[in-house]
Amino acid sequence: MKGNFFLGNGNFEMRDMHLSHPGAGQVLIRNMAAGICGTDVHIMRGEKGSADVTPPVVLGHEYSGEVVEVGEGVTTCRPGDRVTVDPNIYCGRCRFCRNGQKQFCENLVAVGVNFDGGFAQYSLVPQTQVFPLGPDVPWEAGAMAEPLACCLHGIEQAGIRPGDAVLVVGGGAIGLLMVQLARLQGAATVLVSEPSAPRRDIARAVGAVAAFDPAEMPMKEQLLRQIGREGVDVVIECAGNVHATRSAFEAADRGARILLFSVPSAGAKYELDLFEVFNKELHISGSFINPDTHLEAVRLLASGRIDVKPLITHRYPLAQVRDAIIKQTQNDSIKVMVLPND
Ligand SMILES: [Zn+2]
Ligand SMILES: [Zn+2]
Repeated sequence: MKGNFFLGNGNFEMRDMHLSHPGAGQVLIRNMAAGICGTDVHIMRGEKGSADVTPPVVLGHEYSGEVVEVGEGVTTCRPGDRVTVDPNIYCGRCRFCRNGQKQFCENLVAVGVNFDGGFAQYSLVPQTQVFPLGPDVPWEAGAMAEPLACCLHGIEQAGIRPGDAVLVVGGGAIGLLMVQLARLQGAATVLVSEPSAPRRDIARAVGAVAAFDPAEMPMKEQLLRQIGREGVDVVIECAGNVHATRSAFEAADRGARILLFSVPSAGAKYELDLFEVFNKELHISGSFINPDTHLEAVRLLASGRIDVKPLITHRYPLAQVRDAIIKQTQNDSIKVMVLPND
């Protein structure tokens, strides 16, 4: 069995792996699809991700596969199950874990970040991280459970109310999941601001009432044209650059809620108009990883109420993880998958 190991400094290498039979509470998975995440891009470039990485390690924390063998005492899955993996392992002992905020766990570690993950033919993970997908969920959809789980945590922070007008800034994979979740939350209107025309087409296909190019006209004019008023109730920023953040604030109506969801580079800054926060009563929130939302994500994927198919644009074999990560940074891709056993 082989894995594509990250060696640090942007380098990867195919190496043999020797995974033993699963021990008590462990599950051996034949990895079938593993998505590239913005975090992988940050890690490859040596920037700070959501957790520290010690190479050599097999990255890939958004993945699905088939259970090959289970160790003693495993009850969450059986051999032959199609499963997805929640990569984040919480300690259960620290003050955050014991206060309903496990995402801030002081001892957080993650499969595909600190332990070998999805960019290998097989992986060995604790049973607590394994979620059966059901027989009808395709491998690539299963690999989307993790980003969808992150979006589910985010959408809770956004506090959408039935009838709200929502603007999603950025029509990448995350933005396109947010469009669908906003609709499920009861938004009356979901708009997307996105420079790329092909992405705008997909945004409309997955439920946006309108998708527009932010360069076309000033935000307030655009909103006036689309919804008859100059601001929306909820803005979800999913682009990760200063222009997008500015768009998010420009689009916020009085009393609006702004979710800054993207993963910016560590140290990225934005100058806030404090008077505007005051007199518009803006609610600004962030969102970090996916505490207790994996099961919901799996159920949504199994129900077919979230469509991830149009989001997956490129597929790479295991030997080309580096190329796959580079493709994820390019504008013609939305979600890039590695297929470790193709
Ligand atoms: Zn991710
Ligand atoms: Zn903890």
